[in-house]
Amino acid sequence: MIIIVNAVSGAEKERKFSDLVHWIESQGLKTHISRGDFTTIIGVVGDTMKLDPDQIRSFDIVRDVKRVSEPFKEANRKFHPKDSVIEIAGGKVKVGHGNFAMIAGPCSVETEEQIIGIAKSVKAAGANMLRGGAFKPRTSPYSFQGLGAEGIKLLLEAKKETGLPLVTEIMDIKYLPLFEEVDVIQVGARNMQNFELLKELGRTNKPILLKRGLANTITELLMSAEYIMSGGNENIILCERGIRTFETATRNTLDLSAVPVVHELSHLPIIVDPSHSTGTAKYVKPMSLAAAACGADGLIIEVHNDPPHALCDGAQSLRPEEFADVARSVQIMRAAAQEVNAGAETPLA
Ligand code: PEP
Ligand code: MN
Repeated sequence: MIIIVNAVSGAEKERKFSDLVHWIESQGLKTHISRGDFTTIIGVVGDTMKLDPDQIRSFDIVRDVKRVSEPFKEANRKFHPKDSVIEIAGGKVKVGHGNFAMIAGPCSVETEEQIIGIAKSVKAAGANMLRGGAFKPRTSPYSFQGLGAEGIKLLLEAKKETGLPLVTEIMDIKYLPLFEEVDVIQVGARNMQNFELLKELGRTNKPILLKRGLANTITELLMSAEYIMSGGNENIILCERGIRTFETATRNTLDLSAVPVVHELSHLPIIVDPSHSTGTAKYVKPMSLAAAACGADGLIIEVHNDPPHALCDGAQSLRPEEFADVARSVQIMRAAAQEVNAGAETPLA
């Protein structure tokens, strides 16, 4: 349920406002307050069926009361009309509302030399975060599973060398202590509905990169975000990384329409992974540009110094110089999209 309150200002109004909030909370419900220039919105979560909208309307500061039909509440834009901006590494990097994430790095951390070399080159090309898997969710148990704790250690070395905040995937909550100095914890596609993992991450305050599952709807993605948010952690960046369809020409089918759909439904930022969605290095640039054009809040791109010999996902990995070209082109596309939006009656993205 959302309660729309006339803009609150002045001691009398503030008192009435906090009386209303306390009254709602006294019934065992949680409130979420979003202050705007003209209205303030109180999002109410819990068993709101016990609230009578007419009774709430009788508070004189209340303009309107609406039930939210979508199953996701805290992730819903109706609860929080302004875009959320996720702050990473103490605000060193921001994502959302015009702040663009350019995350790059190898699929897997392999050696110290590899990760530090790639970190330096992607930083020079304009990346603002470093990715690299230490724990790898592989289809085959015989494939390289990642370096585990040693991989996280090497990522921290690369962070020390370059200052780039780190994004790396967690596969099991038992490894959480290893992620203390990791800046963004990734929940991979295969774990999008690992609800126990999501609940535990909800109890942390770490930014979470939540990837869409291979066969999950946008509503299910937002419900997974809701699991994390309902535990108290609102620092979530969503990621469209392609879904399974009947098409086999690409590794997955990149559902770029998820970007405007999520922007309409939710205040959370959404970035795009053109590497896992296409599975092929040469398709990464066109899809990166398309993502920037449709308003994505960032990209996560796999980059390897020696793709043919990568231990994981070499076919979709860009060489550092190819990434530099993509990063430059994305800047141009973002500027063009901004120009189009500035001249449009309704923003295109
Ligand atoms: C990854 O980012 O390394 C990864 C495994 O991605 P996904 O979970 O989207 O397959
Ligand atoms: Mn990969």
